[in-house]
Amino acid sequence: MPTLLQTIAQARPLIAKARAGGATVGFVPTMGALHSGHAALMQSCRRECELAVASIFVNPTQFAPTEDLERYPRTLESDLEICRQAGVDLVFHPTPREMYPNGLASTFVETPAFSSILEGAVRPGHFRGVATVVLKLFAIIQPDVAYFGQKDFQQLVVIQRMVDDLRLPVEIRAHPTAREADGLALSSRNRYLNAHERSSAPALYQSLVRARAAVQAGLKNGDRVRQILRETLESTAGVVTEYAEVVDDRTLEPLDNLEGRSAIALVAARLGSTRLIDNLYLRE
Ligand code: AMP
Repeated sequence: MPTLLQTIAQARPLIAKARAGGATVGFVPTMGALHSGHAALMQSCRRECELAVASIFVNPTQFAPTEDLERYPRTLESDLEICRQAGVDLVFHPTPREMYPNGLASTFVETPAFSSILEGAVRPGHFRGVATVVLKLFAIIQPDVAYFGQKDFQQLVVIQRMVDDLRLPVEIRAHPTAREADGLALSSRNRYLNAHERSSAPALYQSLVRARAAVQAGLKNGDRVRQILRETLESTAGVVTEYAEVVDDRTLEPLDNLEGRSAIALVAARLGSTRLIDNLYLRE
């Protein structure tokens, strides 16, 4: 089993010792409820770094008051088994109090260019919470390399921008989205889907694949691509579209014309009370 660390005081000396011995420190932050998408990040970390550290922390500040903080699955025993199988050395699993010693109205990191669009428009305060907790975790673990999934593409952009802007000495490595056989992106929230919702859920990926096929066949008009995304989502029973966008992969600006642009399509939809997101590069 990996060594389980619940306090900063336990974590720091162990990591400092490995670093002093010349180890490259790799880090995979998670909120637990781990699945094979998380495991893939951990396996890359294991392969590429001498010390592999994961964190499991359901971060309260990235949930809006209306969201599923209490309902978020907590499965520590099976999470530790997944970390063990992936070869993780250390698992940092702090309490909220350890991470927010002065309460949740803490010092915050803001990424205004990205925090009120797309996911940020639907989830006010979400990226402020994400950037803040990731900066805290980076300060505690001090990784050389940190691994994030492309599944949460906007999060990846926010973290990369924070690292650039704050000149943090950590390299961000993006990991491709792990999927079920029918294309559904693995997510801790998939377990909330009932059988009917589960059968409709691959519509997100299907909409993206159709949009990509159209672009690869020469379509350049952004609105037409958005229409293809929406048509697929809206023709699937039980899927309520929140957004279906085509944006520049670095600025996240909506694209009118994909000509010469590195374009990514991003979709979010509700199935019953469960929110799912997905994305796919249309052109790189
Ligand atoms: P989470 O605990 O779900 O917030 O995710 C922790 C990390 O795992 C984030 O960097 C996510 O982007 C990544 N992740 C979640 N789901 C997937 C997936 N299906 N494929 C690849 N990475 C993922």
